Amino acid sequence: MGQPEAVQSIRDAVSHNRLAHALLLTGPSGIGKLAFAHAIAQYINCLSPKDGDSCGTCSSCVKIQKGIHPDIRFILPIISKTEGGKRFLTDDYFDSFRQPFFADPYFSMGQWQQILGGDSKQLMISVHEIRELKRSIYLKAFEAKYKVVIVWNVEKINTEGSNAFLKLLEEPPDQTMFILTCSDPSLLLPTINSRCQRLALRRIDRDLVRQYLMEKKGADEGRATELAAVSEGSIGTASDMLQENSQALGQLYINWLRATYSGDYQKITEEVEKIYKESKEAQKQFLHVSMQKLRDSLLFNLGMGERSLAMPDEQVFHSRFSQFVSPDKVERIAGEMEESLRHISGNANPQMVFTSLSLKMYGILRGS
Ligand SMILES: [Zn+2]
Repeated sequence: MGQPEAVQSIRDAVSHNRLAHALLLTGPSGIGKLAFAHAIAQYINCLSPKDGDSCGTCSSCVKIQKGIHPDIRFILPIISKTEGGKRFLTDDYFDSFRQPFFADPYFSMGQWQQILGGDSKQLMISVHEIRELKRSIYLKAFEAKYKVVIVWNVEKINTEGSNAFLKLLEEPPDQTMFILTCSDPSLLLPTINSRCQRLALRRIDRDLVRQYLMEKKGADEGRATELAAVSEGSIGTASDMLQENSQALGQLYINWLRATYSGDYQKITEEVEKIYKESKEAQKQFLHVSMQKLRDSLLFNLGMGERSLAMPDEQVFHSRFSQFVSPDKVERIAGEMEESLRHISGNANPQMVFTSLSLKMYGILRGS
């Protein structure tokens, strides 16, 4: 995870029995604070820790890794709302959180916000959440050595919630550990700050960021290197930028495809110009994104639209466009795109490559 000092300090605290009941993990967003908090919860509850780490295979580890341990609780910033007399709390959103977080330890606040569909100001931890926590936290643990409450971005607690939470920290239940993460300590009440043992996590090494983007996010080498350089050691930031970029390229693809399908040479020229004015790396990524989107349309054509990972607004496009594709056409177009990718990598003139590709696609799409 690339946080050797922090890992060592947790090991030392555990082996000397000095682990505080409230730990505050600080550091910029996107460096894996939440995953680190989760790893601590697993470590202190592991039934057979080895070499200063959790075993990963005992019943406790397995449940924690799946996010189904009854004594490990998350408090997440959510859109606080009441519907039909029901107050929504973290538990009501937990299923939407579990899958992306456990798939990607650097799951970011930006991605969470996108799932919830609110803006960053709306996401908060309300006093209702803390009151609910208070009701259950003094009960005995179901099975764990330590009950653990992980609070993601504790600076998102509103003032009323902070005061209630402070009382909990002042009268901590037995065998309970609070692990709070915070990306911006200046927003945190000093009283909460002073009740916690603070542990600063570091920015991630540029090479690790680059490797992560390539291995886990499918970024090509050029793009990964570029984003690793500008994201200041934050995998979350780099992933967000990668996603924004692919969304922009996705829109470019849709416009280009519409022009191509229309067969209007003027429109095709205009769209192709937008593509070849991008950097060479972006042109390559554009072709990768295009192949991905084309397959999304095919999924809809085959009646398997639910398998598509496209965003809802894009799904509308795919479901409409799907009537113009077939497995055979998609295979042929994908082949032409692969060919274009080779030409672009081999320094061919991008204007010619994309114009020629557009015309071939027109032929395939309009042919029977
Ligand atoms: Zn274990």
